[in-house]
Amino acid sequence: MSIQAIILLGAPGAGKGTMAEAIRSATTFIHVSTGDMLREAIKAGTLVGREAEAFMRQGELVPDEIILKIVMERLERGAPDAQYMFDGFPRTLEQARLLDAEFARRGAKLINVFLLDVSREVSLERLGGRLICRRCDANFHVRNIPPKTAGVCDNCGGELSQRPDDSRATILKRLEVFQQQTAGLIAYYAKRGVLQRVDSSGPRAETVADIMKRLQ
Ligand code: ADP
Ligand code: ZN
Repeated sequence: MSIQAIILLGAPGAGKGTMAEAIRSATTFIHVSTGDMLREAIKAGTLVGREAEAFMRQGELVPDEIILKIVMERLERGAPDAQYMFDGFPRTLEQARLLDAEFARRGAKLINVFLLDVSREVSLERLGGRLICRRCDANFHVRNIPPKTAGVCDNCGGELSQRPDDSRATILKRLEVFQQQTAGLIAYYAKRGVLQRVDSSGPRAETVADIMKRLQ
């Protein structure tokens, strides 16, 4: 057995993190979120965190060499037959090409790329109302998934807040960056025959069921 992987591709607000959590709990895929890894690095005050923070705050992409470094380190730590689910990676053609080269070198197989498809309106509404627990990172939404008590996490009682890059201006910037730097990956993976388009605008359970069906 060698490494196998799936990729969750989609605009900010498409539901990559939500789908990843659902797939992770129902399968043996290991969730690899570059966004989560970068936020952890910022919290921990590492060199990577310090280099990435300003880019993230402005909604810009973090430079490819930093991203590839943390992803390659993650692959090194994993078992030689691990199954990975990449969330938010790759995000540029350069990242995709280098991932391909690394997979070729390891005899690893990219099984599927799921494109989570949502309209710009849905992305804006989801990100604009998103609330994150400062303590356990659980996600809520002011209207769609309201916490039982305003501002308080249902799971751990921690304080809910907006992600620093979920301000209106930064959301718009992230959507623009997606169009300019990431959307090209759709054609790249379609050409390779691994792209699966999934409607991600409906209820969470429907999108999860759709992906799980295609994974079988
Ligand atoms: P979203 O998809 O909602 O923007 P993420 O948590 O995936 O959320 O990413 C948050 C930020 O982290 C991005 O705006 C970017 O600055 C940085 N980032 C995450 N993954 C990558 C990546 N693969 N390449 C470059 N920057 C990244
Ligand atoms: Zn919490």
